[in-house]
Amino acid sequence: CGIVAYVGHRDASPIILKGLKRLEYRGYDSAGIALMNGGLNVYKRKGKVSDLEAFIADQNVQGHIGMGHTRWATHGEPNDANAHPHYSSSRNIAIIHNGIIENYAALKTLLLEKGHTFQSETDSEVFINLIEDIQLNSKCSLAEAVRLALHEVVGAYAIVVLSKDDQNQLIAARKGSPLVVGIGEGEYFLASDATPIIEYTNDVVYVNDYELVVIKDGKLEIRTKEDVVQTPYVQRLEMAL
Ligand code: GLU
Repeated sequence: CGIVAYVGHRDASPIILKGLKRLEYRGYDSAGIALMNGGLNVYKRKGKVSDLEAFIADQNVQGHIGMGHTRWATHGEPNDANAHPHYSSSRNIAIIHNGIIENYAALKTLLLEKGHTFQSETDSEVFINLIEDIQLNSKCSLAEAVRLALHEVVGAYAIVVLSKDDQNQLIAARKGSPLVVGIGEGEYFLASDATPIIEYTNDVVYVNDYELVVIKDGKLEIRTKEDVVQTPYVQRLEMAL
């Protein structure tokens, strides 16, 4: 039910955990984080953000790119396996997702036939396997695979996708569920609302429905799902902390 992601010069996990706490008011049953620290590693738990924090306290979670999620279960009971982030079958890419993919059952049947495997009961894990499947079949970039996947899913989503093959890239998209980009100096934030971001920067872009956000090598690009590049509308928030 809440999303926070970060890429930049700072250590990502403290920013993400603090951000998730700011989004706690949205309600949730589980929390998780994915970080690029050596590989693409996922840490997730049923329970509170503070439980996740305790879980990772004695692990090396340093890394400059990562994403975190608080889950409000819609498909699959609240447990560790159903908590986000979710890997694709190959574990090369991972997703966090807020919302509901209404046609997940039909997509899952197709993906199972193609050999994809699933660790959870969530609709969200279907989404990341769909992206992986498109990428494998089309031999396109991950960003392009995400864009094409937006044409296949029905429902509501704010997603962030991380790839272990690209240590400097965050991909995000939304339809129905909120998503804000924060633009700092040499750093970017993604969140469900501006509260996790305003501590670091006042410059934000509210992502529109059916837009794809690609933050790669320090640059932000927004395009529609029809592949039309958009000029980001940067708003300056005058919010006091
Ligand atoms: N539908 C997804 C799930 O049940 C995401 C729920 C949410 O928005 O937190 O895992």
